Amino acid sequence: MVMTRDALLNQKGGVAKTTTTLHLGGTLAAAGRKTLLVDMDGQGNLTTGLKLERLNPKGELTLARAMLEGCDQEAAHSLVRRHSENLYVIPSALDLFTLPRHLHSARSSEERLAWVLELLQDEFDHCLVDCRPALDIDTDNVLRWADHVLIPVDVDEFSIEALELLLAQVHTLVTETRTAPPHYRGLVINRIDKPFSKFHQKVYDTLHALPLPVVGEIPLRTVVAEAKNKGMTISQYEPKADVARMFHDLAVKAGYLPETPAA
Ligand code: ADP
Ligand code: MG
Repeated sequence: MVMTRDALLNQKGGVAKTTTTLHLGGTLAAAGRKTLLVDMDGQGNLTTGLKLERLNPKGELTLARAMLEGCDQEAAHSLVRRHSENLYVIPSALDLFTLPRHLHSARSSEERLAWVLELLQDEFDHCLVDCRPALDIDTDNVLRWADHVLIPVDVDEFSIEALELLLAQVHTLVTETRTAPPHYRGLVINRIDKPFSKFHQKVYDTLHALPLPVVGEIPLRTVVAEAKNKGMTISQYEPKADVARMFHDLAVKAGYLPETPAA
């Protein structure tokens, strides 16, 4: 088993990074892929969206501590919680908020996430990391580990500028560390609310004209919020919903799942 290592990244908040991680992960799990989701945001929306407990820095090992202090395979396993069949999560913890501050004074400060997640890479088919909305040393860690980047975006005034900044940051990191650039799976345009105003249509068209492919388009749907309230993925909560099919199409178009031949 060769685990795909995916960063779901955009420093812009509210573009559905967490939602995409959760439901794409759910789609992969439903397709029989053993999938690990990593909540790298101290706010813990992925963790609570799946109704899992955050890890407690006072009583148990957390991802941040494992990154700062190092860990062995058994300790890395102890970070993982099972949500449902094929779907596993490394939950968030409050100490992720202070992780960047501690990383700045650590040796090999950008390698730390890779040290931890490499201990788990024989266990899963896919690992998706839900990043916090920042371009800081913790997201550099995700980029140093990832071999794929999927970029959730929304149709908003600042989306294009945010994307330019993000791509420049990845380029700088790759140049500075002389590593191979990650493979961009492409953009997922989220929270699509049609009909568009003229302005939003222009942003949407600009997103489509970028050199990165658009691999998914997900409309605003109340069923997404309902699934979150139940702590379930769309493919568990409402597998027949149109958004469930759209997350499946995303999984195919972005290259996670093979195309199923038409019946
Ligand atoms: P991010 O992780 O990028 O900050 P979230 O995934 O938390 O963004 O999404 C922001 C908000 O939008 C959340 O309240 C989420 O439930 C909601 N949301 C995201 N995608 C959809 C959708 N397709 N339909 C309805 N609500 C959505
Ligand atoms: Mg989030």
